[in-house]
Amino acid sequence: MNIPHPAWIEIDTAQFRKNLAEIRLMIGDRHFCLPVKANAYGHGLCPIGKIAEDAGVNSLGVARLKEALLLRESGLQIPIILFGPAHEDQIDAALRLSIEPTISSKYKAELFAKKCKKKLKVHLEIDTGMRRTGVREENALDLLSYVDQLDCFDVVGIYSHLATADTPNDPFALKQIDAFRKIAEAVANRGIRCHLANSGGVAFYPASHFDMVRPGLLAYGYLPNAMEHPQIKPILSLKAKVSYFKVVEPDTGISYGHEYHTRSRSRIATIPIGYGDGYRRAFSQASVLIRSKLYPIAGTICMDQFMVDLGSAGEAYVGDEVTLIGQIPEEISLWSLAKKINSTPYELLCSFNERLPRFYF
Ligand SMILES: *Cc1c(COP(=O)(O)O)cnc(C)c1O
Repeated sequence: MNIPHPAWIEIDTAQFRKNLAEIRLMIGDRHFCLPVKANAYGHGLCPIGKIAEDAGVNSLGVARLKEALLLRESGLQIPIILFGPAHEDQIDAALRLSIEPTISSKYKAELFAKKCKKKLKVHLEIDTGMRRTGVREENALDLLSYVDQLDCFDVVGIYSHLATADTPNDPFALKQIDAFRKIAEAVANRGIRCHLANSGGVAFYPASHFDMVRPGLLAYGYLPNAMEHPQIKPILSLKAKVSYFKVVEPDTGISYGHEYHTRSRSRIATIPIGYGDGYRRAFSQASVLIRSKLYPIAGTICMDQFMVDLGSAGEAYVGDEVTLIGQIPEEISLWSLAKKINSTPYELLCSFNERLPRFYF
């Protein structure tokens, strides 16, 4: 049933396709894996997966089996790669869903091999400096030959992850690229796809592109260093409708704890979205856009709603559209909100939950 919603997310699908096309220009005919973990960075797992598949993206990347299951249930046939160390109890499902899991140690390879019924496509994970998962770079070839002799895997990829690629010319990122190049050269005749680049790698380190790339944030329109890109733009807006309006006297305390007091006789609008939707309490210092004007949030953000101070002359009517996150002005961009609360677009995008319906234009 289609019911009206007081607060929602809008996704600009035309701009999303532009972002994908722009990345395609940057990487040529290399394999393009789009990370869609965490509900496609909050943009909606299956709709984003479908658009990406239609746009010629080569595979999707997930962090949980459940995400792969949802994609397959929605009818997507595109290859799916499961990032991060897979657990042995995931092997049956990996085969059934025909996804490509990660093997990140000899021990994992052995556990997998015991359960393997038919040849499973896998990616080997090498640690070149992230120090999270994967075998050390000096053991990469050893892991490959070990996995080969188990004879139940088809090694289709070897990958590593960049730790410091959010800005250009980082010496450690260059060091990781160098380390990974040695591995790529050593397996060059095997037809294995070598991949290293996240968004920072794709945007700032062409030498990290190798055979395949995995840009998430960039595809959703954000450069990891908060700069603007001429073609790649954010595709998500967060909106709501004014639900209430009142006028209060000067020095009136607003919301829980009365942490905010009006300066003058003020018009106060109530907006029906709160931290229960993922609009964080820390945003209490932010502003929102109503009728093309920015107004400050008044007081603590509640679970389902918050108030806005329109001052003595601001105009807003019940039912007016409010933009909480959008592309212009700069004050309501996701990056500026993120900086305000010492967060990142990554974290904020993931916090918008399923209570907010997503609409695709
Ligand atoms: C999430 C993830 C990415 C994407 O990172 P971005 O910074 O969003 O581009 C790439 N590779 C792996 C293994 C990941 O888990």
